[in-house]
Amino acid sequence: MESFILGTGGMMPLPNRNLTSMLLRREGELFLFDCGEATQVSLRQLNLKWKKISVILISHTHADHITGLPGILMLTAQVERDEPLIIIGPPKVKEYIETSRKVLDMYINYPIEIRELEDPGKPQEVYRGDGYSIRSFPLRHSKVCVGYAFEEDVRPGVFFPEKAVEAGVPRGPLWGKLQNGVKVDLEDGSSITPEQVMGEARPGRKVCYVTDTTWRDSIPGEVTGSDLLVCEAMFAEDLADSAKEKKHLTARQAGQLAAKAGDIRRMGLIHYSPRYTNRELKILRDECREHFPGAFLCRDRMVIPLPHREEDED
Ligand SMILES: [Zn+2]
Ligand SMILES: [Zn+2]
Repeated sequence: MESFILGTGGMMPLPNRNLTSMLLRREGELFLFDCGEATQVSLRQLNLKWKKISVILISHTHADHITGLPGILMLTAQVERDEPLIIIGPPKVKEYIETSRKVLDMYINYPIEIRELEDPGKPQEVYRGDGYSIRSFPLRHSKVCVGYAFEEDVRPGVFFPEKAVEAGVPRGPLWGKLQNGVKVDLEDGSSITPEQVMGEARPGRKVCYVTDTTWRDSIPGEVTGSDLLVCEAMFAEDLADSAKEKKHLTARQAGQLAAKAGDIRRMGLIHYSPRYTNRELKILRDECREHFPGAFLCRDRMVIPLPHREEDED
């Protein structure tokens, strides 16, 4: 699984900074989080197969997070695709897409399924796929806005063939049963449980996407345990008043949020105000690191590998 940062800017795209968007790739499936103007340019630069996008998740209907959608929908019509494209987001997402389709006379040759969140103020599962689920949880912004948590299911522990042999389970279909968590009965009348021949269950990976928001006490609890937390850090601390008024996070607050959440393996900052040059962003990083030392700056087209915890060397 990898995360691709398609853009890192807030408000408006800059010549060297696209608007905030992230793409997650897992076992050949793609998940797109937000889609501002020119998101498709980064997709092309990273040579990603946009045809494989299963779900698009929209945080809120501010222009910098949604105006790239019509382009992505048209781009997708240029390739053969039978599976529906699922778009999830807060109210008005449907109206925005349907109006754009109508006014632009969009040619769409595949099914689009729009799922608006009826109650975005409530944390909820918004999508379930093979081996993973996606949750939304409320943020606090000047428009209804949600964060997303992509979570893999718990995986069964490692199977130890030598233990199975020792316990008298012959190689064959019974091994498969044990691996699937089913107890097996042997011919001698004894039974063997999966726990006897397998290691402990292993947690799946979790990736959280949090933007745009001001501080909200419920956010740390939602993002705890993330293998990757991508979190807004729009302003430095000298503009804390402005951040509060516009309902955005400062980099320091982002660090506090991650510190409070705990068990965060990687944290990348995103959604930078256009007032900062790319060199000045280290101010944001350093302010965040006062609270969460491992934080890094997301950069446009950065690729972040997300190995399972047991595979991670560092
Ligand atoms: Zn924004
Ligand atoms: Zn916004």
